[in-house]
Amino acid sequence: MDYEAIIVGAGPAGIFAALTFADLGIGPVLLVEQGKDLDKRSHEAVEDRLCGWGGAGAYSDGKLTLSTHVGGVLGEYLDERSLFQLLETADGMYAAHGAPDRIFGERTPRFDSLAERARLADLELVPSRIRHIGTENCRNVLERFRSSLAGRVETRTGCRVKGLLAEGGRIQGVLLSDGSVVNARFVIAAPGRSGARWMKEQAASLGLKTRATSVDIGVRVELPAVVLREITDITYESKLIHYSKTFDERVRTFCMNPYGEVVTEENGGITTVNGHSYADKRSENTNFAILVSSAFTEPFDDPIAYGRYIAHLANLLGGGPIVQRLGDLLAGRRSNPARIARGLTRPTLQSATPGDLSFVFPYRHLLSIMEMLEALEKLAPGVNSRHTLLYGVEVKFYSNRIEVSPQMETRVKNLFAVGDGAGISRGLLQASASGMLAARAIAERMK
Ligand SMILES: Cc1cc2nc3c(=O)[nH]c(=O)nc-3n(C[C@H](O)[C@H](O)[C@H](O)COP(=O)(O)OP(=O)(O)OC[C@H]3O[C@@H](n4cnc5c(N)ncnc54)[C@H](O)[C@@H]3O)c2cc1C
Repeated sequence: MDYEAIIVGAGPAGIFAALTFADLGIGPVLLVEQGKDLDKRSHEAVEDRLCGWGGAGAYSDGKLTLSTHVGGVLGEYLDERSLFQLLETADGMYAAHGAPDRIFGERTPRFDSLAERARLADLELVPSRIRHIGTENCRNVLERFRSSLAGRVETRTGCRVKGLLAEGGRIQGVLLSDGSVVNARFVIAAPGRSGARWMKEQAASLGLKTRATSVDIGVRVELPAVVLREITDITYESKLIHYSKTFDERVRTFCMNPYGEVVTEENGGITTVNGHSYADKRSENTNFAILVSSAFTEPFDDPIAYGRYIAHLANLLGGGPIVQRLGDLLAGRRSNPARIARGLTRPTLQSATPGDLSFVFPYRHLLSIMEMLEALEKLAPGVNSRHTLLYGVEVKFYSNRIEVSPQMETRVKNLFAVGDGAGISRGLLQASASGMLAARAIAERMK
């Protein structure tokens, strides 16, 4: 056997699996990453944004959500207390490797009174504590993880795993894209969203059961930071949920970035929008997403294709993401550069094309977004202003969920699947925790 364990993908899930092995003295372990090594990655290079040592987390905003209900489905495998402890341990590792000490969003009387006001506005304010690493600090934290692993876990970057090899229902190792085979007793697949398609193909060829999950579609909203200052001061990242009046759809705010920037994101040939903020650098705006989660009508069962189709429409019409003033949308006209320039919200994403989002979104999505903005207006006057900017499309694809045990083991013996690519997590902390969970289970098996 070449290795005790091979980890596919050096994102948070793979890194935490590797750290756990190293700390428990398990080896030899090989960590394989198809992208570049951390010091060779550049934010300017599109191919480096999601792939490379550090995974999608490298250029993320680094908000660690310390909630058992957010960022993944680990709560379906672990009881509340065990999950809480696991997340606390993972968070502690981030803090020990340089993540800032401060936690935002602790329950306080001010939070409770905001939650009451939210209820009067037909919104549910979900408590969530957050440690904010900040985009510029993510790199430093990852560098510390990288050096902590040096000499303890072998790492190969620029090396793609082509296939997972199994025989008689048991994993044997991996096939690399150069045609070589590496054997191992255990394999942890942690390929992330960028490797979700690969994971789906592997699951199909190994006969693993998968299940399609939902897709969340919506816009990135940008407005002057002062409009949401009271809320962002209290909660930093407020998670507000609303059930839209007309369609009774679940609509939520997501990834709020006080004083942040709207950015583009490449999604397999489609350009979508996202947002981030720096711990030390401030814009004059706050941005957040409004996402609509739809349950589709049978027999349709391909939410990812649906999400891609909608996002593609924006690219088709705008040559990339579209930006529109809310006032223009409500008046039934497109935004143009002159109207955007007259607006009181100055766009932080200059490359978005002024256009008309009503050509992009289905009626139910657009109406649900507008009803959410009306509800938010009651909580924070100014949100539903004609100067508010809407960027489209923001879409959250979730990978097909691989059937795993509570230890993250698949039906193929000794093959574990973790992180976003296996449909287990949707954020840094649950991705990291799922990697730890698998590595701990393997270590236990080795005793
Ligand atoms: C712009 C942006 C901002 C975000 N902000 C936040 C945030 O503030 N808070 C939060 O909690 N989450 C955030 N996220 C989500 C977070 O980054 C992910 O949830 C997390 O990175 C998932 O970790 P992972 O290890 O499962 O996958 P990834 O981080 O995607 O890593 C998977 C790695 O596997 C590699 N890989 C894939 N297939 C193969 C293969 N066949 N062979 C070898 N290597 C392979 C990929 O190259 C990649 O490097 C953000 C994401 C983005 C894109």
